Amino acid sequence: MKTLRLILGDQLNHKHSWYRNDDDDTLYFIAEMRQETDYVKHHIQKVVAFFEAMEAFVAWLRDKGKKVVYYKLDGRNNTQKLGTNIAALVKERGIEKFEYQLPDEYRLDQQLRQLADDLSIPSEAFDTEHFLTTRNELAEFFEGKKSLLMESFYRHMRRKHNVLMTKNGKPEGGKWNFDLSNRNKWKGQPQIPHEKGFRKDVRKTVKRIEDAGVKTFGNIDSQNFSWPTTRADCLKVLRYFCDHLLVHFGDYQDAMDPEQVYLFHSRLSFAMNSKLLHPMEVIRAVIHHWESNKSAISLNEVEGFVRQILGWREYMRGIYWKEMPGYARCNRLDNQKDLPDFYWTAETDMNCLHHAIRNSLDHAYAHHIQRLMITGNFALLLGVHPDQVDAWYLGIYIDAIEWVEMPNTRGMSQFADGGLVATKPYVSSGSYIHKMSNYCEGCRYNVKGKTGEDACPFNSLYWNFLAEKREFLEANQRMAMMLSTLGRIEERDLEKLRERARQVIRSPQDY
Ligand code: FAD
Ligand code: SF4
Repeated sequence: MKTLRLILGDQLNHKHSWYRNDDDDTLYFIAEMRQETDYVKHHIQKVVAFFEAMEAFVAWLRDKGKKVVYYKLDGRNNTQKLGTNIAALVKERGIEKFEYQLPDEYRLDQQLRQLADDLSIPSEAFDTEHFLTTRNELAEFFEGKKSLLMESFYRHMRRKHNVLMTKNGKPEGGKWNFDLSNRNKWKGQPQIPHEKGFRKDVRKTVKRIEDAGVKTFGNIDSQNFSWPTTRADCLKVLRYFCDHLLVHFGDYQDAMDPEQVYLFHSRLSFAMNSKLLHPMEVIRAVIHHWESNKSAISLNEVEGFVRQILGWREYMRGIYWKEMPGYARCNRLDNQKDLPDFYWTAETDMNCLHHAIRNSLDHAYAHHIQRLMITGNFALLLGVHPDQVDAWYLGIYIDAIEWVEMPNTRGMSQFADGGLVATKPYVSSGSYIHKMSNYCEGCRYNVKGKTGEDACPFNSLYWNFLAEKREFLEANQRMAMMLSTLGRIEERDLEKLRERARQVIRSPQDY
């Protein structure tokens, strides 16, 4: 063998040009490794999904006649570390060149650069051919501009990729953004047609992980695993989304319900983050479906969905590469508290938190608004250290990979970057949660209450947050209305609110 090509667990891109030609002299290498299972404590479903997807990818490569070395977690030659695994293979197999695809995480990027330097043979890095922007494109786009507004980047992406544009260069429907139309509460109707398709038996993979002693958390139904881990399954999920869910995606994008885990969301994040599906393939499939069903599906739904992928997903990646490594340490609000224990158990009387965390533990999933306005909101109102919030999000979600998790968590949700990603802190009292969800009806707390024993804890925490951070927030135009309402609260009443908030912050476990 002359060339060794590394494929990381989130680089399962079937369409990559590497696989197009005959390459008899090339050895492909994929490895399950403790360095990847242990850098943070992961949800069991996340580890299973990656291992299942890697195994299926190896089978596909071998089927195409490629030569592959696949190290399972308990493999005899597996040193559990990327560097030593590769160095040993290079030596044993007489490899003359090392090739890899650019990793998406800073940590792995550093490791691979070092490894390439240390090897005595030449090495070359290739693009993953997955994203719609290069690592530095966002930084170049915003160079010299005062703010990093996602909306202007999104419009640039729409033009650049000619997505939802008319022939004369205008946005489809005359507007770039239909966000304001995406704000309905779900009241039991319309019915959500749940996907009942494939279910996989993953008991062998679970056993392998357990036998190796990998520490995971969360629950799994290992005879009925429902995350797509092959390209065929991912395409089925995409097809299902187009046929059944897209029609109401935008309308109920922000809605929350205790019984509904996914509502009209696509569940495509793992498929894309593992690179089994290409983002443009997803965008084109959705637009194509809309074009053939314009009388049934409104542009509002389609634009809302496209914005998430063409806009937010690429934007977050660009922020990550622009700001790393410093981003991983930012804590502009100087938050120092611990994450409450109930984030790991869902044992809290606050119904919204209970359900959002229960979903996450049972399914390794919560949709965007649950992540932002329930678990993220509460952590920010409590003043939890962003390191702890990051570690929780990075571990618990099926789609969590640092390049997308961190800007969403530290930036958008925790405002730890001081407003680079979010134009204001995403905090709210119980009234927003009540407006968008069906949680409050079944809660032991009164969403309208402010200071009594039964008052919704979000209410006092919210006013306390604004009062405590007033000075910092005053410079932010978007906070003006909230701060002026704060200014109208009588000093005595504000003190009562803050006293109640201090109780919650002292022992969130009691709520
Ligand atoms: P849908 O609601 O169906 O959206 C379609 C697709 O749009 C998603 O699959 C995703 O690829 C993309 N998308 C939507 N919102 C975002 C966003 N803000 N940033 C990037 N892509 C987006 N997403 C991840 O992929 N990995 C993470 O680790 C992650 N961590 C998050 C942490 C916090 C605190 C918050 C607020 C959001 C996070 N998100 C993350 C974004 C978003 O919540 C998930 O992408 C989405 O919930 C995945 O479910 P879905 O596939 O059903 O998405
Ligand atoms: Fe959450 Fe407050 Fe509503 Fe209870 S009352 S579900 S704690 S917002």
